[in-house]
Amino acid sequence: MTTPTSLLCPRCGERSSPNLPRNLCGCGSPLLAEYDLASLRQTWRKEDLAGREASMWRYWELLPVEDRANLVTLGEGWTPILPLRHLGAETGLPELLLKDEGLSPTATFKARGAAAGVSRAKELGIRQVAMPTAGNAGGAWAAYCARAGLDLHVVMPVDTPEMNKLEAQAYGAHVYLVRGLISDAGRIVTRAMAEHGWFDASTLKEPYRIEGKKTMGYEIAEQLGWELPQAILYPAGGGVGLIGMWKAFDELEALGWIGRRRPKLIAVQAEGCAPLVRAFEDGREESSFWEDAETIASGLRVPKALGDFLVLRAIRETEGYAIAVSDRAILEASGLLARTEGLFVCPEGAATVAALPELLRRGVLRSQDRALLLNTGSGLKYPDTVQARELPVLEPGDRIGSPSQADG
Ligand SMILES: *Cc1c(COP(=O)(O)O)cnc(C)c1O
Ligand SMILES: [Zn+2]
Repeated sequence: MTTPTSLLCPRCGERSSPNLPRNLCGCGSPLLAEYDLASLRQTWRKEDLAGREASMWRYWELLPVEDRANLVTLGEGWTPILPLRHLGAETGLPELLLKDEGLSPTATFKARGAAAGVSRAKELGIRQVAMPTAGNAGGAWAAYCARAGLDLHVVMPVDTPEMNKLEAQAYGAHVYLVRGLISDAGRIVTRAMAEHGWFDASTLKEPYRIEGKKTMGYEIAEQLGWELPQAILYPAGGGVGLIGMWKAFDELEALGWIGRRRPKLIAVQAEGCAPLVRAFEDGREESSFWEDAETIASGLRVPKALGDFLVLRAIRETEGYAIAVSDRAILEASGLLARTEGLFVCPEGAATVAALPELLRRGVLRSQDRALLLNTGSGLKYPDTVQARELPVLEPGDRIGSPSQADG
Protein backbone atom coordinates (compact mmCIF):
# COMPACT_ATOMS: atom_id res chain seq x y z
CA MET A 1 0.00 0.00 0.00
CA THR A 2 1.35 3.49 0.74
CA THR A 3 2.50 5.79 3.46
CA PRO A 4 2.55 9.56 3.91
CA THR A 5 5.92 11.09 3.14
CA SER A 6 5.68 13.46 6.11
CA LEU A 7 3.44 15.25 8.57
CA LEU A 8 3.21 18.98 7.86
CA CYS A 9 2.26 21.69 10.32
CA PRO A 10 -0.14 24.06 8.56
CA ARG A 11 0.68 26.82 11.06
CA CYS A 12 4.49 26.96 11.32
CA GLY A 13 5.39 24.82 8.29
CA GLU A 14 7.54 22.32 10.20
CA ARG A 15 7.70 18.79 8.81
CA SER A 16 8.12 15.60 10.81
CA SER A 17 8.29 11.87 10.24
CA PRO A 18 4.99 10.02 9.96
CA ASN A 19 6.57 6.81 11.20
CA LEU A 20 6.27 7.51 14.92
CA PRO A 21 3.11 8.12 16.98
CA ARG A 22 2.57 11.88 16.90
CA ASN A 23 0.10 14.34 18.36
CA LEU A 24 0.27 18.11 17.90
CA CYS A 25 3.13 20.12 16.45
CA GLY A 26 5.36 21.84 18.98
CA CYS A 27 3.56 25.09 18.09
CA GLY A 28 0.21 23.60 19.16
CA SER A 29 -1.27 23.11 15.70
CA PRO A 30 -2.70 19.86 14.31
CA LEU A 31 -0.50 18.01 11.81
CA LEU A 32 -1.60 17.04 8.32
CA ALA A 33 -0.35 14.05 6.32
CA GLU A 34 1.41 14.71 3.04
CA TYR A 35 1.90 12.29 0.15
CA ASP A 36 4.12 12.19 -2.90
CA LEU A 37 1.46 13.66 -5.17
CA ALA A 38 3.92 14.51 -7.96
CA SER A 39 4.87 10.83 -8.46
CA LEU A 40 1.29 9.68 -8.05
CA ARG A 41 0.29 12.12 -10.80
CA GLN A 42 2.62 10.24 -13.16
CA THR A 43 1.36 6.77 -12.34
CA TRP A 44 -2.22 6.97 -11.10
CA ARG A 45 -5.24 7.59 -13.37
CA LYS A 46 -8.78 8.08 -12.23
CA GLU A 47 -9.77 5.26 -14.59
CA ASP A 48 -7.77 2.94 -12.31
CA LEU A 49 -10.53 3.32 -9.72
CA ALA A 50 -13.05 1.42 -11.84
CA GLY A 51 -13.80 -1.96 -10.33
CA ARG A 52 -12.16 -1.23 -6.99
CA GLU A 53 -13.83 -2.05 -3.66
CA ALA A 54 -16.89 0.03 -2.76
CA SER A 55 -15.33 1.48 0.37
CA MET A 56 -13.11 4.46 1.21
CA TRP A 57 -10.09 2.17 0.79
CA ARG A 58 -10.52 2.39 -3.00
CA TYR A 59 -8.31 5.48 -2.56
CA TRP A 60 -5.58 3.56 -0.71
CA GLU A 61 -2.82 5.46 -2.52
CA LEU A 62 -3.79 8.51 -0.43
CA LEU A 63 -4.52 6.75 2.84
CA PRO A 64 -2.02 6.24 5.65
CA VAL A 65 -1.64 2.47 5.85
CA GLU A 66 1.52 0.88 4.54
CA ASP A 67 0.86 -2.80 5.14
CA ARG A 68 -2.54 -4.12 4.13
CA ALA A 69 -2.34 -6.53 7.08
CA ASN A 70 -2.84 -3.56 9.40
CA LEU A 71 -6.02 -2.42 7.71
CA VAL A 72 -8.96 -2.39 10.12
CA THR A 73 -12.18 -2.11 8.14
CA LEU A 74 -15.90 -2.65 8.56
CA GLY A 75 -16.71 -1.59 4.99
CA GLU A 76 -16.85 2.18 5.62
CA GLY A 77 -17.31 4.71 2.86
CA TRP A 78 -18.80 4.78 -0.65
CA THR A 79 -22.12 5.95 0.76
CA PRO A 80 -24.84 6.97 -1.70
CA ILE A 81 -25.53 10.46 -2.99
CA LEU A 82 -29.29 10.85 -3.32
CA PRO A 83 -31.26 13.55 -5.14
CA LEU A 84 -33.81 15.29 -2.87
CA ARG A 85 -36.46 16.02 -5.51
CA HIS A 86 -39.40 16.84 -3.24
CA LEU A 87 -37.49 18.80 -0.66
CA GLY A 88 -35.48 20.52 -3.39
CA ALA A 89 -38.63 21.64 -5.19
CA GLU A 90 -40.14 22.78 -1.92
CA THR A 91 -37.13 24.86 -0.88
CA GLY A 92 -36.39 26.22 -4.36
CA LEU A 93 -33.24 24.19 -5.08
CA PRO A 94 -34.24 21.66 -7.76
CA GLU A 95 -30.73 20.15 -7.86
CA LEU A 96 -30.44 19.45 -4.15
CA LEU A 97 -28.39 16.34 -3.21
CA LEU A 98 -27.65 14.50 0.02
CA LYS A 99 -24.74 12.20 0.77
CA ASP A 100 -25.97 9.74 3.36
CA GLU A 101 -23.38 8.75 5.93
CA GLY A 102 -26.15 7.23 8.05
CA LEU A 103 -25.37 3.96 6.25
CA SER A 104 -21.86 3.80 7.70
CA PRO A 105 -20.69 1.16 10.20
CA THR A 106 -21.73 2.46 13.66
CA ALA A 107 -24.22 4.66 11.74
CA THR A 108 -22.16 7.85 11.44
CA PHE A 109 -19.30 9.14 9.31
CA LYS A 110 -17.05 8.85 12.38
CA ALA A 111 -16.42 5.34 11.04
CA ARG A 112 -14.18 6.80 8.33
CA GLY A 113 -11.97 8.60 10.81
CA ALA A 114 -11.86 5.61 13.12
CA ALA A 115 -10.96 3.20 10.32
CA ALA A 116 -7.99 5.33 9.25
CA GLY A 117 -6.93 6.30 12.79
CA VAL A 118 -7.15 2.81 14.28
CA SER A 119 -5.45 1.18 11.28
CA ARG A 120 -2.53 3.60 11.55
CA ALA A 121 -2.36 3.24 15.35
CA LYS A 122 -2.14 -0.53 14.91
CA GLU A 123 0.55 -0.09 12.27
CA LEU A 124 2.61 2.14 14.60
CA GLY A 125 2.39 -0.43 17.41
CA ILE A 126 0.06 1.52 19.71
CA ARG A 127 -1.82 -0.73 22.18
CA GLN A 128 -3.77 1.64 24.45
CA VAL A 129 -5.85 4.49 23.11
CA ALA A 130 -7.74 7.23 24.98
CA MET A 131 -10.07 9.95 23.74
CA PRO A 132 -12.74 12.44 24.73
CA THR A 133 -15.92 12.28 22.66
CA ALA A 134 -19.23 14.03 22.20
CA GLY A 135 -20.60 10.57 21.50
CA ASN A 136 -20.31 9.11 18.01
CA ALA A 137 -16.52 9.11 17.77
CA GLY A 138 -16.44 7.04 20.96
CA GLY A 139 -18.79 4.48 19.42
CA ALA A 140 -16.86 4.30 16.18
CA TRP A 141 -13.44 4.06 17.81
CA ALA A 142 -14.78 1.43 20.22
CA ALA A 143 -15.90 -0.71 17.27
CA TYR A 144 -12.65 -0.39 15.31
CA CYS A 145 -10.46 -0.82 18.41
CA ALA A 146 -12.39 -3.98 19.25
CA ARG A 147 -11.73 -5.30 15.75
CA ALA A 148 -8.05 -4.32 15.95
CA GLY A 149 -7.59 -5.75 19.45
CA LEU A 150 -6.63 -2.36 20.95
CA ASP A 151 -7.72 -1.11 24.38
CA LEU A 152 -9.85 2.05 24.29
CA HIS A 153 -10.65 4.49 27.09
CA VAL A 154 -13.39 7.02 26.23
CA VAL A 155 -14.53 9.97 28.29
CA MET A 156 -17.88 11.57 27.41
CA PRO A 157 -20.20 14.17 28.93
CA VAL A 158 -22.85 12.65 31.29
CA ASP A 159 -25.60 13.97 29.02
CA THR A 160 -24.26 12.26 25.89
CA PRO A 161 -27.08 10.46 24.00
CA GLU A 162 -27.83 7.11 25.65
CA MET A 163 -27.10 5.17 22.48
CA ASN A 164 -23.50 6.43 22.44
CA LYS A 165 -22.93 5.27 26.00
CA LEU A 166 -24.40 1.88 25.16
CA GLU A 167 -22.56 1.24 21.91
CA ALA A 168 -19.14 2.06 23.40
CA GLN A 169 -19.85 -0.39 26.23
CA ALA A 170 -21.15 -3.00 23.81
CA TYR A 171 -17.81 -2.90 21.95
CA GLY A 172 -15.95 -3.43 25.21
CA ALA A 173 -14.41 0.04 25.63
CA HIS A 174 -13.66 1.51 29.07
CA VAL A 175 -16.28 4.28 29.31
CA TYR A 176 -16.14 7.21 31.73
CA LEU A 177 -18.71 9.99 32.09
CA VAL A 178 -17.76 13.54 33.04
CA ARG A 179 -20.02 16.19 34.53
CA GLY A 180 -19.06 18.75 31.92
CA LEU A 181 -18.49 19.26 28.20
CA ILE A 182 -16.24 17.54 25.67
CA SER A 183 -13.59 20.14 26.53
CA ASP A 184 -13.63 18.90 30.16
CA ALA A 185 -13.42 15.31 28.91
CA GLY A 186 -10.38 16.38 26.89
CA ARG A 187 -8.58 17.71 29.96
CA ILE A 188 -9.17 14.42 31.79
CA VAL A 189 -7.77 12.46 28.85
CA THR A 190 -4.66 14.68 28.72
CA ARG A 191 -3.97 13.92 32.37
CA ALA A 192 -4.65 10.19 31.97
CA MET A 193 -2.34 10.06 28.99
CA ALA A 194 0.52 11.56 31.01
CA GLU A 195 -0.11 9.17 33.88
CA HIS A 196 -0.73 5.93 31.96
CA GLY A 197 1.12 6.44 28.68
CA TRP A 198 -2.02 5.94 26.58
CA PHE A 199 -2.08 7.36 23.06
CA ASP A 200 -4.25 10.49 22.83
CA ALA A 201 -6.59 10.02 19.86
CA SER A 202 -8.54 13.27 20.38
CA THR A 203 -9.91 14.93 17.25
CA LEU A 204 -7.02 16.52 15.34
CA LYS A 205 -4.51 15.73 18.09
CA GLU A 206 -4.30 12.47 16.18
CA PRO A 207 -3.26 13.16 12.56
CA TYR A 208 -5.06 10.36 10.70
CA ARG A 209 -8.77 10.62 11.47
CA ILE A 210 -8.90 13.49 9.06
CA GLU A 211 -7.38 11.22 6.40
CA GLY A 212 -10.40 8.96 6.74
CA LYS A 213 -12.88 11.80 6.72
CA LYS A 214 -11.32 13.44 3.66
CA THR A 215 -12.42 10.47 1.54
CA MET A 216 -15.91 12.04 1.52
CA GLY A 217 -14.37 14.67 -0.75
CA TYR A 218 -12.92 12.07 -3.14
CA GLU A 219 -16.23 10.25 -3.25
CA ILE A 220 -18.25 13.39 -3.94
CA ALA A 221 -15.94 14.12 -6.88
CA GLU A 222 -15.94 10.58 -8.25
CA GLN A 223 -19.64 9.86 -7.70
CA LEU A 224 -20.60 13.11 -9.47
CA GLY A 225 -18.37 12.33 -12.47
CA TRP A 226 -15.57 14.68 -11.32
CA GLU A 227 -17.90 17.69 -11.50
CA LEU A 228 -18.03 19.19 -8.03
CA PRO A 229 -21.28 20.80 -6.86
CA GLN A 230 -21.53 24.57 -6.28
CA ALA A 231 -21.83 24.16 -2.52
CA ILE A 232 -21.38 21.57 0.21
CA LEU A 233 -23.24 22.07 3.50
CA TYR A 234 -21.47 20.47 6.43
CA PRO A 235 -22.67 20.28 10.05
CA ALA A 236 -19.51 21.43 11.84
CA GLY A 237 -18.49 20.51 15.36
CA GLY A 238 -14.72 20.29 15.26
CA GLY A 239 -14.95 20.74 11.50
CA VAL A 240 -12.71 17.79 10.69
CA GLY A 241 -14.80 16.60 7.77
CA LEU A 242 -14.83 20.08 6.28
CA ILE A 243 -11.05 20.49 6.56
CA GLY A 244 -10.73 16.96 5.22
CA MET A 245 -12.78 17.65 2.09
CA TRP A 246 -10.84 20.87 1.49
CA LYS A 247 -7.60 18.87 1.69
CA ALA A 248 -9.06 16.16 -0.56
CA PHE A 249 -9.94 18.65 -3.31
CA ASP A 250 -6.42 20.11 -3.19
CA GLU A 251 -5.00 16.60 -3.53
CA LEU A 252 -7.30 15.81 -6.46
CA GLU A 253 -6.22 19.01 -8.18
CA ALA A 254 -2.55 18.11 -7.63
CA LEU A 255 -3.27 14.78 -9.34
CA GLY A 256 -4.82 16.66 -12.25
CA TRP A 257 -8.20 14.98 -11.67
CA ILE A 258 -10.19 18.17 -11.05
CA GLY A 259 -9.67 21.83 -11.92
CA ARG A 260 -9.29 24.87 -9.71
CA ARG A 261 -12.96 25.52 -8.97
CA ARG A 262 -14.11 24.54 -5.49
CA PRO A 263 -17.55 24.12 -3.99
CA LYS A 264 -18.43 26.78 -1.43
CA LEU A 265 -17.79 25.01 1.86
CA ILE A 266 -20.62 26.01 4.21
CA ALA A 267 -20.36 25.21 7.92
CA VAL A 268 -23.69 24.81 9.71
CA GLN A 269 -23.75 25.03 13.50
CA ALA A 270 -26.42 25.16 16.21
CA GLU A 271 -27.42 28.49 17.74
CA GLY A 272 -26.61 27.06 21.17
CA CYS A 273 -22.98 26.42 20.15
CA ALA A 274 -21.75 28.42 17.17
CA PRO A 275 -18.14 29.49 17.78
CA LEU A 276 -17.15 29.11 14.12
CA VAL A 277 -20.10 31.18 12.93
CA ARG A 278 -19.28 33.95 15.38
CA ALA A 279 -15.62 34.01 14.31
CA PHE A 280 -16.63 33.98 10.64
CA GLU A 281 -19.02 36.89 11.14
CA ASP A 282 -16.43 38.83 13.14
CA GLY A 283 -13.80 38.28 10.45
CA ARG A 284 -11.48 36.53 12.90
CA GLU A 285 -9.00 33.76 12.12
CA GLU A 286 -9.74 31.76 15.26
CA SER A 287 -12.82 31.15 17.36
CA SER A 288 -13.26 31.85 21.07
CA PHE A 289 -14.55 29.37 23.63
CA TRP A 290 -18.38 29.20 23.52
CA GLU A 291 -19.76 29.35 27.06
CA ASP A 292 -22.67 27.09 28.15
CA ALA A 293 -22.76 25.19 24.87
CA GLU A 294 -26.07 23.41 24.43
CA THR A 295 -27.84 21.77 21.49
CA ILE A 296 -29.79 18.65 20.67
CA ALA A 297 -27.26 18.05 17.87
CA SER A 298 -24.67 16.61 20.25
CA GLY A 299 -22.01 16.21 17.55
CA LEU A 300 -22.03 19.99 17.10
CA ARG A 301 -21.48 20.69 20.78
CA VAL A 302 -17.80 21.60 20.48
CA PRO A 303 -17.21 24.93 22.27
CA LYS A 304 -13.72 25.48 20.83
CA ALA A 305 -12.21 23.39 18.05
CA LEU A 306 -8.49 22.77 17.76
CA GLY A 307 -8.64 23.14 13.98
CA ASP A 308 -10.90 26.22 14.01
CA PHE A 309 -8.33 28.29 12.07
CA LEU A 310 -8.25 25.65 9.33
CA VAL A 311 -12.05 25.50 9.12
CA LEU A 312 -12.22 29.28 8.80
CA ARG A 313 -9.45 29.25 6.20
CA ALA A 314 -11.25 26.57 4.17
CA ILE A 315 -14.52 28.52 4.32
CA ARG A 316 -12.92 31.79 3.21
CA GLU A 317 -10.74 30.27 0.49
CA THR A 318 -13.76 28.61 -1.10
CA GLU A 319 -15.97 31.70 -0.74
CA GLY A 320 -18.06 29.62 1.60
CA TYR A 321 -20.08 30.63 4.61
CA ALA A 322 -20.97 29.80 8.22
CA ILE A 323 -24.49 29.86 9.61
CA ALA A 324 -26.29 28.81 12.79
CA VAL A 325 -29.78 27.28 13.12
CA SER A 326 -32.02 26.75 16.14
CA ASP A 327 -32.75 23.35 17.70
CA ARG A 328 -36.39 23.92 16.88
CA ALA A 329 -35.57 24.41 13.19
CA ILE A 330 -33.39 21.28 13.31
CA LEU A 331 -36.27 19.17 14.66
CA GLU A 332 -38.68 20.56 12.07
CA ALA A 333 -36.20 19.93 9.25
CA SER A 334 -35.65 16.40 10.51
CA GLY A 335 -39.37 15.62 10.33
CA LEU A 336 -39.70 17.24 6.92
CA LEU A 337 -36.83 15.21 5.46
CA ALA A 338 -38.23 11.98 6.86
CA ARG A 339 -41.76 12.63 5.52
CA THR A 340 -40.80 13.99 2.10
CA GLU A 341 -37.72 11.92 1.24
CA GLY A 342 -37.83 8.82 3.45
CA LEU A 343 -34.62 9.80 5.19
CA PHE A 344 -34.44 9.70 8.98
CA VAL A 345 -31.23 11.62 9.60
CA CYS A 346 -29.33 12.65 12.71
CA PRO A 347 -30.03 16.17 14.06
CA GLU A 348 -26.60 17.32 12.83
CA GLY A 349 -27.54 16.32 9.28
CA ALA A 350 -30.97 17.92 9.68
CA ALA A 351 -29.22 21.19 10.57
CA THR A 352 -28.02 21.48 6.97
CA VAL A 353 -31.63 21.24 5.76
CA ALA A 354 -32.70 23.83 8.32
CA ALA A 355 -30.07 26.26 6.98
CA LEU A 356 -31.32 26.21 3.37
CA PRO A 357 -34.04 28.90 3.45
CA GLU A 358 -31.78 31.45 5.12
CA LEU A 359 -28.84 30.66 2.79
CA LEU A 360 -31.14 31.29 -0.19
CA ARG A 361 -32.50 34.47 1.35
CA ARG A 362 -28.99 35.79 2.00
CA GLY A 363 -27.93 34.95 -1.56
CA VAL A 364 -25.26 32.46 -0.46
CA LEU A 365 -27.11 29.82 -2.50
CA ARG A 366 -28.96 30.52 -5.76
CA SER A 367 -31.86 28.44 -7.03
CA GLN A 368 -29.85 27.07 -9.98
CA ASP A 369 -27.04 25.85 -7.70
CA ARG A 370 -26.33 22.20 -7.20
CA ALA A 371 -25.91 21.99 -3.42
CA LEU A 372 -24.93 18.85 -1.56
CA LEU A 373 -25.96 18.26 2.06
CA LEU A 374 -23.75 16.05 4.14
CA ASN A 375 -25.85 13.90 6.41
CA THR A 376 -23.33 12.71 8.95
CA GLY A 377 -25.35 9.99 10.64
CA SER A 378 -28.53 8.00 11.11
CA GLY A 379 -31.54 9.29 13.03
CA LEU A 380 -31.91 5.83 14.55
CA LYS A 381 -29.17 6.75 17.04
CA TYR A 382 -31.30 9.68 18.26
CA PRO A 383 -34.77 8.33 19.12
CA ASP A 384 -35.42 11.47 21.20
CA THR A 385 -35.53 13.66 18.10
CA VAL A 386 -38.77 12.11 16.86
CA GLN A 387 -41.69 14.28 17.81
CA ALA A 388 -43.65 11.31 19.04
CA ARG A 389 -47.41 11.61 19.27
CA GLU A 390 -50.00 9.92 21.41
CA LEU A 391 -50.84 6.83 19.36
CA PRO A 392 -54.28 5.21 19.22
CA VAL A 393 -54.31 1.90 21.11
CA LEU A 394 -56.62 -0.81 19.81
CA GLU A 395 -58.03 -3.90 21.50
CA PRO A 396 -57.46 -7.14 19.52
CA GLY A 397 -61.12 -7.18 18.37
CA ASP A 398 -61.26 -3.50 17.36
CA ARG A 399 -61.53 -2.16 13.82
CA ILE A 400 -59.69 0.82 12.44
CA GLY A 401 -62.19 3.54 11.78
CA SER A 402 -61.51 6.47 9.49
CA PRO A 403 -57.75 6.91 8.98
CA SER A 404 -57.97 10.39 10.50
CA GLN A 405 -58.54 8.71 13.84
CA ALA A 406 -54.95 7.59 13.71
CA ASP A 407 -52.60 10.48 13.83
CA GLY A 408 -50.42 11.33 10.87
C1 LIG B 1 -18.90 14.42 15.10
C2 LIG B 1 -20.13 14.68 14.36
C3 LIG B 1 -20.30 15.85 13.60
C4 LIG B 1 -19.27 16.94 13.55
O1 LIG B 1 -18.11 16.49 12.92
P1 LIG B 1 -16.77 17.35 12.99
O2 LIG B 1 -15.86 16.69 12.07
O3 LIG B 1 -16.33 17.33 14.41
O4 LIG B 1 -17.15 18.74 12.57
C5 LIG B 1 -21.46 15.97 12.87
N1 LIG B 1 -22.42 15.03 12.90
C6 LIG B 1 -22.30 13.90 13.62
C7 LIG B 1 -23.41 12.90 13.61
C8 LIG B 1 -21.16 13.69 14.38
O5 LIG B 1 -21.04 12.57 15.09
ZN1 LIG C 1 3.74 24.02 14.00
